[in-house]
Amino acid sequence: MNIENTRVVLVRRPETEATPDCFSIETQPLADLKPGEVRVAVDYVSVDAGTRTMLRGEGFHQQVGLGDTILAGGVGRIVESAADGWAVGQAVRGGLGVQTHATLNAATLEQIDTSIAPINAYLGVLGGSTGVTAWIGMRHVARPKRGDVFVVSAAAGAVGSIAGQIAKKEGARVIGIAGGPKKADYLLNRLGFDGAIDYKNEDVGQRLKALAPDGVNVFFDNVGGLVLDAVLDNIAMRAKVVICGAVSQYDHMDNVTGPSMYLRLAERQSSMEGFAFFHFPESIAPAMAELGKWLQEGSLVFDEEVLHGIERYPEALQFMFGGGNIGKLLVKIS
Ligand code: NAP
Repeated sequence: MNIENTRVVLVRRPETEATPDCFSIETQPLADLKPGEVRVAVDYVSVDAGTRTMLRGEGFHQQVGLGDTILAGGVGRIVESAADGWAVGQAVRGGLGVQTHATLNAATLEQIDTSIAPINAYLGVLGGSTGVTAWIGMRHVARPKRGDVFVVSAAAGAVGSIAGQIAKKEGARVIGIAGGPKKADYLLNRLGFDGAIDYKNEDVGQRLKALAPDGVNVFFDNVGGLVLDAVLDNIAMRAKVVICGAVSQYDHMDNVTGPSMYLRLAERQSSMEGFAFFHFPESIAPAMAELGKWLQEGSLVFDEEVLHGIERYPEALQFMFGGGNIGKLLVKIS
């Protein structure tokens, strides 16, 4: 089969923001498949805040080399197969990368059933770095109790919007922190949260004092920096602060702003605990099962924004770091 592959490549490591000039788009012919390999026509790729930390050349996450394809979770369909049990037309999910055609050993992929949920949902509500992350963070780490005041940051984003809704299901009073009046309205009127704080236009500490005068029992943090400090200053006795991520720090990971309010943990007998979803591999299937059930019964709101065209991937990353997305951000490749 004579196919060309178009991919997004890293050509310059970002010093601060990952701007479009850090990337180029290249098209090359593809080699024949080796035994055990499949060729996947990529349908959607996931845009993840954590990708910014993969462009530095060092760090906790797997790194993208200069000249290499940008790493990303993706979904698509097999168009050519040299692997037993992997038929042309099968829908798959895996680390496909930002490219039109991924050539991979079939064993690295997962077959997905698009009769249960549409293919894009496998990167969103059922995705490892999205719905599954929120579920694992909530069930294994945050564990709010009925009546708790639960606060989540980047609350209108992919992970935060699901974490907050799970907290509502657990009977907590949920306050979301997000940027701008449109997102605050989304939290209150679409997700049904009990309170919303627009950190771009409001003083987070003052608003928390008004909305949660007895303090915050559980904080699910996706942002770090000043937002983390403002919430730490307002925790209740025996509170739990969950570090899911710190998107405000990803553009300057060599100079991370630590929480200056961490002594509140000692003063209020509280704890801070981080997690990564892939540390709980045994929980991925149960997470997908429960998230899928909620999706089918219509008890979970899940919104997506989709940018169309592989050439828009660099713009999509910038859009996310500018706070543009509500819900899950995807790029539609084909
Ligand atoms: P997302 O929440 O859909 O999008 C990121 C959001 O972060 C933006 O929409 C923006 O919303 C906010 N943001 C961007 N720059 C910011 C800044 N400087 N200060 C404050 N907020 C900023 O992204 P996501 O992929 O779902 O990731 C959310 C968090 O989950 C990230 O911290 C990510 O690293 C983390 N995560 C953790 C795991 C894990 O296993 N622990 C797995 C996946 C993701 P606003 O408009 O509200 O600013």
